[in-house]
Amino acid sequence: MRAMIFDGSGKPLRLAEVPVPEPGPGEVLLKVHACGICRTDLHIVDGELAEPKLPLIPGHQIVGSVVRSGAGVGRFAEGTRVGVPWLGATCGTCRHCRSGRENLCDHALFTGYQRNGGFAEYTVADVRFCFPIPDGYPDLQAAPLLCAGLIGYRSLTMAGDAERLGVYGFGAAAHIVTQVARFQGRQVFAFTRSGDAKGQAFAREMGAVWAGSAEERPPDELDAAIIFAPAGELVPAALRAVGKGGIVVCGGIHMSDIPRFPYDILWGERSIRSVANLTRRDGAEFLSLAPRVPVRTEVQPYPLEAANEALADLRRGAIRGAGVLVVGS
Ligand SMILES: [Zn+2]
Ligand SMILES: [Zn+2]
Repeated sequence: MRAMIFDGSGKPLRLAEVPVPEPGPGEVLLKVHACGICRTDLHIVDGELAEPKLPLIPGHQIVGSVVRSGAGVGRFAEGTRVGVPWLGATCGTCRHCRSGRENLCDHALFTGYQRNGGFAEYTVADVRFCFPIPDGYPDLQAAPLLCAGLIGYRSLTMAGDAERLGVYGFGAAAHIVTQVARFQGRQVFAFTRSGDAKGQAFAREMGAVWAGSAEERPPDELDAAIIFAPAGELVPAALRAVGKGGIVVCGGIHMSDIPRFPYDILWGERSIRSVANLTRRDGAEFLSLAPRVPVRTEVQPYPLEAANEALADLRRGAIRGAGVLVVGS
């Protein structure tokens, strides 16, 4: 099969012919139709996440169909369309797993990081961590639901019942969160890189009531803010934008250092928290909610062998909505 391989940071992904993997016990072999790209893939390629398996096939927003099941697997019939998210496996026995927080599992394995992912024509996945894809979502439109959507949804949940919600960084996750937040009757205030008029127009199109640059103060005091951009300086900016009791949620897996800030912008029971990974429950909830909103994902397609170009476009903020590798059908 054709695959894009990561050999270590500082090197572009390499197109290679490798054997189709065999599904082990508890696994399914999937023919990959599409795989979304994510900022986390950039952090892996840039060496900002320290524990990738090498060589690695990245990609953790996989839409594929079941080709064959390994021993002991009867969950999905051959041909069923399923999605594979970032959370690839958990131990099931650690304190976190036993308390409904498998996203924090001490021994988790992540797709496209510690397990091979979807930048390839085939992949194997632990069947317990696959989701059925909701009807009505073509492969390309479904792919971004699997990380941008899931992590966005978990981040939104952490924002509590905030009515006025700020979103910093208007990429794949934000364009989905905005639609869900609107559906829930919230107002979304979108913050982009300064001068990104296109991004701000896109945010308004998706339903933001206001869009401006991250240095600007919104017209109204916010109840919560979600930061999707990996820039630490947004944390004090967001703290200044939220009112008393406001929550600042950091939705990314990596962020540059947060600059020092005076205590009085945290005072007044404001809080800062991160969101890590996802649980299967988040997945089930979000994938049943998405068609009811309905969430419509805006995607920019790339062929599999253009994965490096897709990542470069993501890096410079040139993707409207979500980038997706079109792999097969
Ligand atoms: Zn565990
Ligand atoms: Zn991701």
